[in-house]
Amino acid sequence: MSVRDSYIPYARQSVDQHDIDAVVAVLQSNWLTTGPYVAEFERAMCEQMKVTYGTAVSSGTAALHCAVHAVGISHGDEVIVSPITFAASANCILYQGGTPVFADVDYETMLISPQSVKNAITERTKAVIAVDYAGQPCDYVQLRQICDDHNLALIGDCAHSLGASLYGKTPAQYADCTTYSFHPVKHITSGEGGLVLTDNPEFAQRIKLFRNHGIDADHMQREKEGAWMYRMVELGYNYRISDFQCALATSQLKKLEGWLQRRAQIAARYDEVFGTIDDFDLLTTISGGVHAHHLYVLRLAPKHHADKRQQMFDALRQLRIGVNVHYIPIYHHLYYKKNVNQAALHCPNAEAAFERILSLPMYGTMTDAQVERVIDAVLDSLAR
Ligand SMILES: *Cc1c(COP(=O)(O)O)cnc(C)c1O
Repeated sequence: MSVRDSYIPYARQSVDQHDIDAVVAVLQSNWLTTGPYVAEFERAMCEQMKVTYGTAVSSGTAALHCAVHAVGISHGDEVIVSPITFAASANCILYQGGTPVFADVDYETMLISPQSVKNAITERTKAVIAVDYAGQPCDYVQLRQICDDHNLALIGDCAHSLGASLYGKTPAQYADCTTYSFHPVKHITSGEGGLVLTDNPEFAQRIKLFRNHGIDADHMQREKEGAWMYRMVELGYNYRISDFQCALATSQLKKLEGWLQRRAQIAARYDEVFGTIDDFDLLTTISGGVHAHHLYVLRLAPKHHADKRQQMFDALRQLRIGVNVHYIPIYHHLYYKKNVNQAALHCPNAEAAFERILSLPMYGTMTDAQVERVIDAVLDSLAR
């Protein structure tokens, strides 16, 4: 293969002329932030995910922080979370003075294990953060039951799972709060952006306050009232998102269905080839689940070790295939090594999976030719 072959990233955004026109229209309007396009995007997401309250914020990380705040996490509280995720899923607990407690994942799916969650509960546990790893929903039926039995809040980190469902319901219909990210590698993008969904009016109110410094009226409302008065009632942040970002996200949301179908096709093609090769041990789909295919995770079989993964990674990068590893278990990071009790950690499935995974290119505008080039490169790198 020649070095002139173009690089295929593991993920990338797609922005078309409709998206550009939508953004330009907002730039020429009166409101650049916290205006009608933010509200429109929030309504569109609520409708799609079948919940009542949506708050768009500046990032997926801000959305997680809002959710952890909304359910009342504070100093000394324990929150159970999966280690196989981006650091933000656990950092948000630390922002509020809480303690992340890592539960193991199920080997087959790499989703948080309900049994491991149960084992991790103590009298200080206040919430569970489930991560819809790679794009399939966690076992929200069991997690909901466990949380109800122990009076815990359930937060879904749905940064990977826009469009996923479980037994016909969206993750937002099971969890107390769900959070989304619109970073360019995700299903739809606003550049940077995030959103929190909830059916709980009290949580929704707390999230709205938290987004805007803890001030209890936004500037449009003040404008209407013609009043100079505003009340800062608690400590919040500036987690607002601009109208042109939300116009982009709303325009992108209209294309989600088509992109999801394309992602499912690509995953089916990868499965068709790699599912018959005993060097691989593919992840399985949970029953009742509809997968949103954010990532395609190729896992080597147990007979292989981390050095084989490294060798394939290097070979694929050389062939200009943008493979990646999702994720380094969070507790491996230096900060967590220094700040989280390592002795209490017991995540053998997360460890075993982490050593043998590679994420292959997967995005809604990948062509058949690109998919085949990835497949050829994987087979080539495996044989080396
Ligand atoms: C992308 C991502 C986030 C963070 O979202 P940002 O918008 O980048 O802040 C959080 N959790 C998971 C699982 C993610 O993939």
